[in-house]
Amino acid sequence: MTHAAHPLDADYLVVGAGAMGMAFTDALIDHTDVRVALVDRRHGVGGHWLGAYPFVRLHQASAFYGVASTLMGGGRLQQHGPETGLQERATVSEILAYFDKVLAERMLEPGRVEFLANCEYAGDRTVVSHISGERYVVPPDCRIVDARYLAPDIPEETPPPFEVAGGVRVIPVNDLARLSEAPSEYVVVGSGKTATDACIWLLGRGVDPGAICWVRPRDPWMLNRAVVQPDPAVFLGMAADTMAAAGAATSLEDLFLRLEEAGIMLRIDRSVTPTMAKTPTLATWELEQLRSVEHVVRRGHIRSVRPGRIELEGGSVEVAADALVVHCAAAGLKYPPMVPIWGPSAITLQPIRAGFPCFGAALAGYVEATREDDAERNRLCPPSPYGNSLAGWAEMNVLGTRAAMSFGAEPDIKAWADTVALNPARIPPDHPGSTALEDALARLRVHTGPGLERLSALAVT
Ligand SMILES: Cc1cc2nc3c(=O)[nH]c(=O)nc-3n(C[C@H](O)[C@H](O)[C@H](O)COP(=O)(O)OP(=O)(O)OC[C@H]3O[C@@H](n4cnc5c(N)ncnc54)[C@H](O)[C@@H]3O)c2cc1C
Repeated sequence: MTHAAHPLDADYLVVGAGAMGMAFTDALIDHTDVRVALVDRRHGVGGHWLGAYPFVRLHQASAFYGVASTLMGGGRLQQHGPETGLQERATVSEILAYFDKVLAERMLEPGRVEFLANCEYAGDRTVVSHISGERYVVPPDCRIVDARYLAPDIPEETPPPFEVAGGVRVIPVNDLARLSEAPSEYVVVGSGKTATDACIWLLGRGVDPGAICWVRPRDPWMLNRAVVQPDPAVFLGMAADTMAAAGAATSLEDLFLRLEEAGIMLRIDRSVTPTMAKTPTLATWELEQLRSVEHVVRRGHIRSVRPGRIELEGGSVEVAADALVVHCAAAGLKYPPMVPIWGPSAITLQPIRAGFPCFGAALAGYVEATREDDAERNRLCPPSPYGNSLAGWAEMNVLGTRAAMSFGAEPDIKAWADTVALNPARIPPDHPGSTALEDALARLRVHTGPGLERLSALAVT
């Protein structure tokens, strides 16, 4: 049955209730008196975390994730385990509970936001419920916010990118935690954060490293979690060391080796030069565990899996007849062309400061609320991409650093950003100051100019 369409009573339609849609909405309603309709085809808020594998947690501090008004994790330090002293990292259930609470208490209760769950934005200023069939039209003066432009692809929702012959068991990483019988061999497929999580989870459940075959088409550079912490002396110290390394680098490979030497970048195998730089954070205890997996297959992408054999671009390998293939090979982060955040038909959320999507979305919400003109908003907040290759990582840092200089030159934005924990480079207003912080700031002043110049040359090589 086709339902009559009725108009949405909203000043903004935010499409996507993941972290970016939530962060934008939260900052917008905190600084203006507008009404927002938040729409998602999923059943709740939290975006891709609703389809995540059960043992995932944030790879970086909880404080850097979520919305500006509400600190995730309370700024607590880990008290036990191998990351004692580092900031806590929320589990998937904690992330989802956090977003549910933000939705209920900050958005729905005050009557500022209407959440349309299980609803599809069809792209033509109409929204349709997958459940009731109800249709909504978006009034002409309602601004559309695209908060799904960079929504990551995840294994639960993406078929394996290779042919699977009959008789082979291939599961998305999510199903690892539901196994009822152990295979004699696990084949973990993927080079990124999800594959590293799968290996560490298997090892933590007592799987022998020799029973894991890791198909890793590319080797990744990862950031040392200890230097990506919500402490300005640590974070700005790392930024200064990065710029110093960039200023002296003779090539992209040389830059990453210098960053490794400085304790910023990590790689699993020191005999291999990585080509991938999505740079999630990793702890050194995880690195040690990952190094115990010695059966690493580097023969490009898999073409097909058959009982006892895997065919890859660069040859084939034998595996156990009962091997379980663990699909961790969804694309994850997305790399569509960067577009101005404020466009003629939509506000398209993208990171602004390099690599912190929640801060970028919150900043866009604040700037939307406090500035009148889209050209000015775009001047203050140009987008930056996610990193993938080494050159892409350099470009992300060049554009992200320039963007930070641009919005940071506005006194009110700087003052707001210094109060927001999502901003990794903030110096909180009540910070007592320290010699380490003074030193980091002094080194940043010296190294940022030459570092940026060299990074931008390297980004286009
Ligand atoms: C496993 C994993 C771990 C990660 N960990 C971190 C981390 O620790 N820190 C960090 O900063 N980043 C992390 N990321 C990176 C990731 O980019 C961020 O989580 C980011 O915040 C993604 O949020 P998003 O809102 O862009 O996308 P999503 O969470 O995917 O939200 C987009 C939403 O849009 C909805 N949607 C899409 N199209 C439509 C439509 N037409 N109509 C209605 N709804 C629609 C989707 O249903 C989805 O819920 C991680 C990514 C993954 C995959």
